[in-house]
Amino acid sequence: MSEFDFDLFVIGAGSGGVRASRMASQYGAKVAVAEDTYLGGTCVNVGCVPKKLFVYGSHVPEEVEAAAGFGWRVSEPQFDWPTLRDNKTREIQRLNGVYRNILASAGVELIEGRARLLDAHTVEVAGKQYSAERILIATGGWPKIPEIPGREHIISSNEAFYLQEFPRRVLVLGGGYIAVEFAGIFNGLGAETELLYRGPLFLRGFDEEVRRFVAGQVAEKGVKLTFETNLVSVEKLDSGELKATLTDGTERIVDCVMAATGRAPKIEGLGLENTAVTTGRNGAVEVNEDFQTSEPSIYALGDVIGRMELTPVALAEGMALAKSLYLGEPTSVDYENIATAVFCQPNIATVGLTEEQVLERGIRARVYTADFKHMKHTLSGLAERTFMKILVDDASDKVIGCHMVGQDAGEIIQGIAIAIKAGATKSDFDQTIGIHPTAAEEFVTMREPSRVIG
Ligand code: NDP
Repeated sequence: MSEFDFDLFVIGAGSGGVRASRMASQYGAKVAVAEDTYLGGTCVNVGCVPKKLFVYGSHVPEEVEAAAGFGWRVSEPQFDWPTLRDNKTREIQRLNGVYRNILASAGVELIEGRARLLDAHTVEVAGKQYSAERILIATGGWPKIPEIPGREHIISSNEAFYLQEFPRRVLVLGGGYIAVEFAGIFNGLGAETELLYRGPLFLRGFDEEVRRFVAGQVAEKGVKLTFETNLVSVEKLDSGELKATLTDGTERIVDCVMAATGRAPKIEGLGLENTAVTTGRNGAVEVNEDFQTSEPSIYALGDVIGRMELTPVALAEGMALAKSLYLGEPTSVDYENIATAVFCQPNIATVGLTEEQVLERGIRARVYTADFKHMKHTLSGLAERTFMKILVDDASDKVIGCHMVGQDAGEIIQGIAIAIKAGATKSDFDQTIGIHPTAAEEFVTMREPSRVIG
């Protein structure tokens, strides 16, 4: 009989925590998971899932616009925000139930309430103490809002999912995934939208040619892009409107200011000070390669360790930890060549190195690019263009980076990611016969490099 109540006590029932707890339980461990907010974490409740549903919704006006070119006469579309918002919420509630069932059928005990570490083996939830041989911190992250006057009038993406009224004019602050995705959502759903970014070009870290292409497309779709400008303050006027003052001295009168200025690990009130767990940059819990913190019985994974804040990464980390600890199969996570997508409009998807990373690493590479009008838009009348880029290591012929901006980019790059993970060469791409007519076939028909770098 173990001296502890549980073998593993997981704090946080998000993507990583649920995966780790249910796998550990299936491998024979006695597991509990504590959650105080919502089952499924950020991804299910205020992230990937509702965001993607909104993205689908925001594409509808374009589809209606495109309909005429295909011979359909459609009356002027009318948008009803409460319908979209509430249908989305119903789907999220269904998923919350699915998560509850997943945990129950895996034999994981769900403890509802906010968990606090009392020592290296003890957690307190709602006044009750639980002991565990091992504890896993999987508390995720929370949006950060800049410390500026009037910040109480600024919403984050969390609130954007539940707005009482759909805003007529929106100012989105930030230039990362969330800012660009939400600017597309607000714009697509009919709000006058401006994206404000402090640097010269948004989506820092993505391939520069991709960033420039996306900026052109996003602006073309109607989002006003204001770069090299930040927000100074927000003031609520008697009319209920918001007055935003920018660093260039100009002002905007809007109905909603949303900050998407990054996220911070959720560690407040967690009781880390009662343990030897250390935190690093931006408050991220520090772990070794085995997700073990400096307190040997305490582990951490997912957004709270601030490595790659992506659901599939947290899932992989949760699985690796459960296998290592409870299946006796030491498993690590390979962070190389993880594909990601930004669901802006059009989508960006990418895997492998950017051109800038290739140059930094001193690799001589051939660069293949294609910039074309999707077949659909020959009749749709929409100006949207597609961009594709392949980076090939000249010495080995291996494809080391693939980038796409265009319809279904995420769906297409997922397949390409398998090829890159398997070490495909450009010659493998060339020998692959395309599926015609698709946009994706362009990836296997790019014959002449646009340039050689490095
Ligand atoms: P990011 O860290 O990606 O971007 C934050 C943005 O805000 C950057 O452009 C940054 O500018 C800017 N910024 C930061 N601080 C300030 C400030 N004080 N004033 C003005 N601007 C500021 O964060 P997000 O919130 O967009 O997303 C968080 C993470 O969630 C992402 O990194 C991603 O890993 C994940 N995510 C993934 C999605 C997907 O897979 N599709 C979707 C949404 C989120 P600068 O560049 O100058 O630092």
